[in-house]
Amino acid sequence: MSTNCNTTSCQDSPLIGGVTITSKPKINLLGLDRKAMQDFFISIGEKPYRAEQVLKWIHFQGIQDILQMTNVGKALREKILNIAEIQIPTISYESTATDGTHKWVIRLMDGNCIETVFIPSETRGTLCVSSQVGCTLNCDFCSTGKQGFNRNLTSSEIIAQVWLAVRSLSKKQGSHDHAITNIVMMGMGEPLLNFDAVVTAMNIMLDDFCYGLSKRRVTLSTAGVVPAMYRLGEVTDVALAVSLHAPNDELRNILVPLNKKYPLNDLMQACKAYFSKDKRRYITMEYVMLEGVNDQPSHAEQLISLLKDIRVKINLIPFNPFPSTIYKRSSQTTIDRFQKILMEAGFNCIMRRTRGEKIDAACGQLVGQVKDRTRRSERIKKSIASTSYAPTHLK
Ligand code: SAH
Repeated sequence: MSTNCNTTSCQDSPLIGGVTITSKPKINLLGLDRKAMQDFFISIGEKPYRAEQVLKWIHFQGIQDILQMTNVGKALREKILNIAEIQIPTISYESTATDGTHKWVIRLMDGNCIETVFIPSETRGTLCVSSQVGCTLNCDFCSTGKQGFNRNLTSSEIIAQVWLAVRSLSKKQGSHDHAITNIVMMGMGEPLLNFDAVVTAMNIMLDDFCYGLSKRRVTLSTAGVVPAMYRLGEVTDVALAVSLHAPNDELRNILVPLNKKYPLNDLMQACKAYFSKDKRRYITMEYVMLEGVNDQPSHAEQLISLLKDIRVKINLIPFNPFPSTIYKRSSQTTIDRFQKILMEAGFNCIMRRTRGEKIDAACGQLVGQVKDRTRRSERIKKSIASTSYAPTHLK
């Protein structure tokens, strides 16, 4: 046996007649978009149209057992079974808030947990999907970042959240009220730091053989990974939301440290470029309202000049507190005043209603269970304790 082999599958392989038989790990078909599925079939000498049949079985019919794919010949089903599987992680916990918001904690194969949230309203059902286990960005007002970071999710793990939510919601009474009409990549993690897996998963969300959502109903939210925003515009045209949260670099460097790498000027250029081919579409600017920090009329005025040349809708998000945070939610009067200034300047500006707070399912409250490989949590706790930038009333 080879002495420098250190992969698990290799170590587990049987030794037959002095030769190691390495069993290749099976391909998880769940995370393949149409192109990848076609390539898979071509690679095993089959016709690419099989991709559409299999995608439909997995995502539309919710079939997990390859042998049940009855329009695929028996011999081919067995061939697929030898090299591929449909592996779905498990739901380890779920709960529903009184406002109908539903949260699932999903346990991945390696023991990490991620969170997915469904937010029903009169007109739509929005699923909030995670893209990473934890987050590297360390935004100061977000509890996901405080848990540290473990790893990127695979495309299978991202789309599994949709697969599980569709099945779980359809079991609930009056499933009509539980239809997923929109998906937002606003759960745990920064989607643009897991670019390929996120784009593949979004392709599956958009595909008519899978979930068939329109490009306006799938939204990617980013803290502003500028180069990846340009790349995104080249490969897809899903809706884009940007977590802005501050109208100047000085404040944004504190709230969203990624701003030090990609300052507002660069971010605004990337925003302008994103929908340059379709002038009718708007970027959503998300702005969390933090009392005494970014919610004053002067901030609204700065925001107006920052955004004046860009087609944007502004979403004001009341801050959702979590243990150990130094921030407070702005009062309703302050939020109303802020909104009025922006609206009078001609901006489309709405306040996002906070949902699912009681079950820790609101924006920025998703923590999952992250095996923090970076040990950042401890460092962050210390650094928060010593911040000099917190406004005096927060110290
Ligand atoms: N990393 C991506 C997506 C995840 S966050 C991004 O930054 O856009 C999804 C949204 O929730 C972002 O706008 C984020 O800034 C906001 N958010 C984070 N923590 C929050 C909190 N405590 N209260 C309200 N909104 C929060």
